[in-house]
Amino acid sequence: MPRVIPFPDNLDSYTAAMSKPPPAARTAEALVDRFGRTVRYVRISVTDRCDFRCVYCMGEDMQFVPRARILTLEEIAQIARAFTALGVTKIRLTGGEPLVRRNVLHLVRELGQLEGLDELVMTTNGSQLPRYAAELRAAGIKRLNISLDSLDPERFRRLTRVGDLAQVLAGIDAAHAAGFERLKINSVILRNRNDDEVVPLVRFAAGRGMDITFIEEMPLGAIDEHDRAEAYYSSDDIRRDLEQVFTLLASTDTTGGPARYVRLRETGTRVGFISPHSHNFCDTCNRVRLTAEGRLLLCLGQEHSVDLRHVVRSHPGDMERLKQAIRDAMAIKPAGHEFDLHAKPVIFRHMSVTGG
Ligand code: SAM
Ligand code: SF4
Repeated sequence: MPRVIPFPDNLDSYTAAMSKPPPAARTAEALVDRFGRTVRYVRISVTDRCDFRCVYCMGEDMQFVPRARILTLEEIAQIARAFTALGVTKIRLTGGEPLVRRNVLHLVRELGQLEGLDELVMTTNGSQLPRYAAELRAAGIKRLNISLDSLDPERFRRLTRVGDLAQVLAGIDAAHAAGFERLKINSVILRNRNDDEVVPLVRFAAGRGMDITFIEEMPLGAIDEHDRAEAYYSSDDIRRDLEQVFTLLASTDTTGGPARYVRLRETGTRVGFISPHSHNFCDTCNRVRLTAEGRLLLCLGQEHSVDLRHVVRSHPGDMERLKQAIRDAMAIKPAGHEFDLHAKPVIFRHMSVTGG
């Protein structure tokens, strides 16, 4: 009979029971898809819920997944362990807003112990950082990406529908005080909404020793606030804005993700561009995503997926079966996304569900 191990109420026995295999067994494997790409990076959405309602990410009235269908923290930890046993070295916790998930720190502590995991990082909207930054750092998160699209309180509220800029800025201060290895700002720029803030956002990041990455809006899920094609502001537009003020130096820096980087001569700041529309990055894709419901998504812009919740719930504790389901999933990882801002949305899940 497989054992059901309580989590997180009994962390000591859980940790002992989930004790790690010897490194040789753990690293012998790699997840390679049919295009020869090795998957070393998993983005895990710990919740589809959020305290913001960013206009490009969510509709105004969102239906959230019933709680019984959301993976428990124990299930997430088990799946993460399977991935590290299969050669994954980087996990990003995201959402929804990861810091609104109850007891998420227990999960962070658990994942922080996983052997073979070189990088445990998080993407957050920053609103809960005043409360959690220090504990997150202590629990093993090395780096944080914090989303920030405007430095104007009114506009910030409009873009997030409910967000309080002061709270996020306090969160960024708390993150600095907590001593993360690196902090990065993520900004989505929309034409006629915040395209005049490209330079101020870069100055903000530079003034705090942070990197910044600009993300082109992707057509994920139905939204009601704007027309995505009209609001499209490309990475090349952003570069042009920056070139008016800064000297952009070509950079070969990589963080193992889709961003392309430049450095600003004046400040040394690293500026990244994630450009799914203008510069496709699929040929070097090294990642998969786990939704809060336990769906393993093989591509951000396609629906190919495997239901890992079904595997962990129908065969509790069966690590071999879980690993095999993950290995098998590599056979359906598609070549790439086919985003088209002008077409009707073909991906009905929002970024908050996807684990952006
Ligand atoms: N709530 C956290 C946050 O906002 O950082 C983590 C989840 S959020 C989905 C992750 C990132 O996805 C954020 O930087 C957000 O700006 C970005 N994002 C959300 N919807 C997007 C979309 N449709 N296109 C491009 N980026 C999007
Ligand atoms: Fe929430 Fe992040 Fe989506 Fe904004 S982008 S609604 S903060 S999940």
